[in-house]
Amino acid sequence: MVHVEIGVDGVPAAVALEPWLVRGIARHAGHLQCADPSAEEIGVRVRRQVSGALAALLVGMGAVVLSAGATAAQEGPRGPRFTAGAPGAGDAYFPFAGNGGYDVQHYDLDITYTPPAPAPAPLVGRLSGVATIDLVATQDLDRFNLDLRGLEVQAISVNRKRATEVAPPAPGAEVEGAAYWHVQDDAARSWELTIQPRPKIKKGQTARVVVTYGGDTTRPTDIEGVLYGWVTMRDGAMVVSEPEGSMTWYPVSDHQTDKATYGFEITVPEGKVAVANGLPARDPVTEDGWTTWFWDAPDLQASYLTTASVGDYELRFSETDGGLPIIDAVDDNLTMANAATTEASLALQAEMIAFLEDAFVPYPFNSAGAIVDDDTVGYALETQTRSVYSRVASEGTVVHEIAHQWFGNAVSPERWQDIWLNEGWATYAEWLWSEDSGRDSAQALFESILDIPADDEFWDLAIADPGPFGLFLGGIYDRGAATLHALRVKIGDEAFFAASQEWLERYDDSTATTEDFEEVFEEFSGQDLGAFFDVWLRTPSKPTSW
Ligand SMILES: [Zn+2]
Repeated sequence: MVHVEIGVDGVPAAVALEPWLVRGIARHAGHLQCADPSAEEIGVRVRRQVSGALAALLVGMGAVVLSAGATAAQEGPRGPRFTAGAPGAGDAYFPFAGNGGYDVQHYDLDITYTPPAPAPAPLVGRLSGVATIDLVATQDLDRFNLDLRGLEVQAISVNRKRATEVAPPAPGAEVEGAAYWHVQDDAARSWELTIQPRPKIKKGQTARVVVTYGGDTTRPTDIEGVLYGWVTMRDGAMVVSEPEGSMTWYPVSDHQTDKATYGFEITVPEGKVAVANGLPARDPVTEDGWTTWFWDAPDLQASYLTTASVGDYELRFSETDGGLPIIDAVDDNLTMANAATTEASLALQAEMIAFLEDAFVPYPFNSAGAIVDDDTVGYALETQTRSVYSRVASEGTVVHEIAHQWFGNAVSPERWQDIWLNEGWATYAEWLWSEDSGRDSAQALFESILDIPADDEFWDLAIADPGPFGLFLGGIYDRGAATLHALRVKIGDEAFFAASQEWLERYDDSTATTEDFEEVFEEFSGQDLGAFFDVWLRTPSKPTSW
């Protein structure tokens, strides 16, 4: 993700900020003016700030006990055998994101979307969908959850057996037969659809879950009040879901530890273009004023990297010298200046991919490209194979989002606290590209970060555990990149790039932690880097020696 200008209707440019408490440690994340060496290129990053009420709420959430585990279990001689899957994937920052007890293999999303009527009609769209979810049980499952926010369920079946909607039962209460219930608790930021399949699902068994759902689409926000998820726009929708906004548009185990493949059938009014991840599965079909767009994303993908954006796009097809398809969807209505900047940047995509392949490993997915909307959510996001850009795609942002295809998408952060592994690398790729293009060298950009005075709030962030409100602070990006550069200087280019390649190969199509990262770099350098990493990643002050 890269923040850009903000100023879309209804989005506050700044709200009040309160300290956020993580594991009892107060981390002041105040008015951080991000020191960004390439600010001119990538635009001014938003000051993302949070209300005190939200912070208090999240502290409360952290205290919620995630142990639906034994409810309604069948007691055997050795205790319950079939139990409920957990309502969260175990991420401390977002306790209800993702779910336990199963592993999704594939999502097939059949979505029909009607954008809002022209102004002054409300900015509300209409979505109806059928999600077909193939999963494998990882425990003997009595019940399991999906995440679904702001939309209503009309019907659910598991292995073709229809479940009945019931009122949410009291904790521990039995429920008769195949059933489901949906709890949408905005105050607790908990959106859980619980499904009780009958027969129960044995560990290792596959199940096909079909959820028919829909409702009005609005403009959901994340814990910081920033637009994400299915963001309704007058001419369509921008769909950007980091960190857990996919649940605003389909039922999902919304955490990157459960990657899956995707297929899409998106039906929109004739004239609109719907763009998702991967490649077109077939030509669009138009009938009775509606066009259905078919996309196939066969590479494993984290839920937050899914998109199905809808707009007045022109689709452009090209490819790299190596034959990798590039598909760009560029809004017809960009301003002249933004269109010119965007054209120039997107024309460099093949060269950027070749540059990063030379530095690291081959491009990890079946296609590449961009979605450039004339609307804005305030940032760009590295949606897999097809990054989404707000209003303009500038050169620095494009190389940043392309670098994420390796760093973040192929190798994803195991926990949200590991986000610096995404943003540090993507920012460092901007530095490498800058140097390769004859502009500032990585060393010069590193030095510009070290020029930030020690008493600047920039240094107050321990980037290996920034707290859920610190995910997109400047330090995650620039201190992250500086950490990588300092590491490269310390262990030398040969060990640094060899370890980088190993990192990308070992954890390809998977997730990894900061500790995993440290292990790979210690292995390849033969050095004990404990003190180095403590200074750069875990100490909330400016590094002075390492
Ligand atoms: Zn980023």
